[in-house]
Amino acid sequence: MNEILIKNADVVVTMDGARRELAGADVLVRGGVIAAVAAGLATTGRVIDARGCVVTPGLVNTHHHLYQTLTRAVPGGQDALLFGWLKTLYPIWARFGPEEIFTSAQVGLAELALTGCSLTSDHLYMFPNGARLDDTIAAAGEVGLRFHPTRGAMSIGESDGGLPPDALVEREASILEDCIRVVDRFHDASEGAMVRVGIAPCSPFSVSRDLMRDAALLARDKGVMLHTHLAENDEDIAYSLEKFGCRPGQYAEDLGWVGDDVWHAHCVKLDGQEIDLFARTGTGVAHCPCSNCRLGSGIAPVRAMRDAGVKVGLGVDGSASNDAGNLVAEARQALLLQRVANGADAMSAREALEIATLGGAQVLGRHDCGSLEVGKRADIAIWDVSGVEAAGSWDRVAFLLAGPMRVRDLIVEGCEVVRGGAMVTIDLSAVIAKQNRLARALMG
Ligand SMILES: [Zn+2]
Repeated sequence: MNEILIKNADVVVTMDGARRELAGADVLVRGGVIAAVAAGLATTGRVIDARGCVVTPGLVNTHHHLYQTLTRAVPGGQDALLFGWLKTLYPIWARFGPEEIFTSAQVGLAELALTGCSLTSDHLYMFPNGARLDDTIAAAGEVGLRFHPTRGAMSIGESDGGLPPDALVEREASILEDCIRVVDRFHDASEGAMVRVGIAPCSPFSVSRDLMRDAALLARDKGVMLHTHLAENDEDIAYSLEKFGCRPGQYAEDLGWVGDDVWHAHCVKLDGQEIDLFARTGTGVAHCPCSNCRLGSGIAPVRAMRDAGVKVGLGVDGSASNDAGNLVAEARQALLLQRVANGADAMSAREALEIATLGGAQVLGRHDCGSLEVGKRADIAIWDVSGVEAAGSWDRVAFLLAGPMRVRDLIVEGCEVVRGGAMVTIDLSAVIAKQNRLARALMG
């Protein structure tokens, strides 16, 4: 079996049960699995010199809309609140097709890879002009990231009092049919899986109560996870109280949307009872701090969630509501926001890094990922801390959140995806050129 030996790291951050940080340790990868973490290891295979580097588990992204990399910084939506922002972008997204979905996914995935992410979820909830979930899965296959695509959906269009234009919504029967198709075709429940599919109606305000309930029943029947947007901002809470007569937590619980197999994006406005509900049921949260800041949604009660035992991971959210897809920036922002809200001792750099790695893996139900331990999948990020911005740093691990925003090397399932700061799996300049061509066509 192929071996890779990562030698002489300044520090290996294991995220194991004792959260050990091993100075001068090596990591041996055999096949797709970590075979050893110790000093003085040897191999006959490839050696990666990690002198001057910090080695961590690959970062985990629990919420994204990859397709939105094609609509970054669109004029007219830049300064709007969530609902107004969506209304600006819907007509542009309605002109997407398979090529736009595939290329924008490649760009988003490469951006994640270059910033140290080895496992990402994606939430695709519109399928205009023949686009399919298959297009993003093909993109991830080429880029080489571990991928949890979720089959999203919108079914309440403008003419039924919903937010999206009618052209972007689907019939609920077809939505469920296609969920079954993509789960049967692509979902891999086995350990080390590179693709796991989830079911993910866009949000409680874009599908019916029936579809929310049926999606939960279907997911349980198929043994796949459930994902949606929940309690993102004040408008969201007001909508829930007015239309459903209850808060989002209650709505989720009534329809089967809590449990170990469910994670919700944002949850900025969860109250104490809802936090207890999530903790009690093992329901996970995708915290998206940059998006929450960008859209002025508020500060998610992450300190309270973590203290109550809620599983929390990080999400970059769609590039159109963040303008960037960099998980290190999210970890830093998560730390800063909790400190703004709760004081300078509210979150350490190590806790933010834990949320960005192990936390995300737990949210996505990946007990085989998120830490550097023997038997875990070989998803490894190598960060160069020998440059000018790191010179003089006493604590290289804490420094990670202030320092390199890009990874030097990234290994996923024992394969090199980034080497020396460049993509090795795809021709990135060609992908960028194609993306810019598609963006220009959409502007025209
Ligand atoms: Zn989102």
